[in-house]
Amino acid sequence: MIYKKNREFALSLDEEDKLAKYRDYFHIPCQKNGEEHIYFCGNSLGLQPKITSLYLNQELQDWANFGVEGHTKATNPWMPYHEFLSEGFSKIVGAKLSEVVAMNTLTVNLHLMMVSFYVPTNKRYKIMIESDAFPSDIYAVESQIKFHGYDPNEALIKLKPRDGEDALRTEDIISEIQKKGDEVALIMLGGVNYYTGQVFDFEKITAAAHLKNIKVGFDLAHAAGNIKLELHKWQVDFAVWCTYKYLNSGPGSVAGAFIHEKHHKTNLPRFAGWWGHDKETRFTMPDNFSPINTSEGWQLSNPPILSLAAIRASLEIFNQAGIDKLIAKSKSLTDYLVYLLQTIDTDRIKIITPNDRGCQISLRILNSDKYLFKQITNCGVISDWREPDVIRIAPVPLYNSFLDVWSFYNILNKLLSEK
Ligand SMILES: *Cc1c(COP(=O)(O)O)cnc(C)c1O
Repeated sequence: MIYKKNREFALSLDEEDKLAKYRDYFHIPCQKNGEEHIYFCGNSLGLQPKITSLYLNQELQDWANFGVEGHTKATNPWMPYHEFLSEGFSKIVGAKLSEVVAMNTLTVNLHLMMVSFYVPTNKRYKIMIESDAFPSDIYAVESQIKFHGYDPNEALIKLKPRDGEDALRTEDIISEIQKKGDEVALIMLGGVNYYTGQVFDFEKITAAAHLKNIKVGFDLAHAAGNIKLELHKWQVDFAVWCTYKYLNSGPGSVAGAFIHEKHHKTNLPRFAGWWGHDKETRFTMPDNFSPINTSEGWQLSNPPILSLAAIRASLEIFNQAGIDKLIAKSKSLTDYLVYLLQTIDTDRIKIITPNDRGCQISLRILNSDKYLFKQITNCGVISDWREPDVIRIAPVPLYNSFLDVWSFYNILNKLLSEK
């Protein structure tokens, strides 16, 4: 594709875009002057679909009408409500229906998965993670290591990019696995690194780890709804994700978990709760825990229905638009963004996101100068600043346009050419 650097060209791309109508399915936040923001923060909090309030109101109304009987009599009965999300989730992460479940929040699920998949022995007790993993993930793995009586300084292996490079190379990850793998119990990576936007090679890493008998889990906070996932096929052991970023389900909304079916009927250790108990006998209130033979067996509590309703609304839109088409548009948007950024004559910004990426582009700002971030914010761009020196820009295919991308470039180009 031959790109052009003018507004008309961006508008022509929007005209040809078959997914352009979906922008109108969302509430786009406005600036004080009434103009819409250029919203590039869907990797942090996705925008609200207009249908979400309808889905929530349905549950509020059924609660008003039925009280406790809503568990069975609501239009969408609450007892099996989480099951209504399984199909949508399975398409998003590439899994069987039995392998996905909506429950808890992301970091909670990460802990629950580590209870099952991080079972250290004196020979094999280490965890491997990327060096610039999201802090919550580092806290979670370190606390698990300590919980089992080991020292994170020794038991946590942090994978660092080569000197002078920003992203990890797959070959380097694999050679670390081959070198140190006999002592490693678990590899836990962000599927898409939150800082650089790098997409990891799930399949190769998982295969190399399994050859060494290491379990592999991915945090899909930045991957779910962003990139093509085939968790079942790739043999990933477990994964967790939140639904408020690319999955547009509202702040703090319920998270998802994937457990590969090969683990469903095994005797992995797990923390149990009544919602994970066999549905046939759950309400006979037996003392002995008998888990559901699917990922649902890892549930603890009856879930917050209002949050699940928001996820249902969002998954309905993903289902209509189609994840493959969304990913194709996402690639066009970021390719266009990268092209435009590369034409800016400046040494104040550097793209640190590698070509293996989803819709996020991370810009390193020379001298950690936050002023530029404040300037683009004042011009109506909503993005975010991540310490120490990165602005993250995420054009999301459901609601961002090629015009958004061009307008952002135009703002940045002007700011960077000022003295
Ligand atoms: C957003 C994000 C989280 C947030 O965790 P919560 O438990 O949902 O608060 C955790 N890990 C990563 C990699 C994230 O991007």
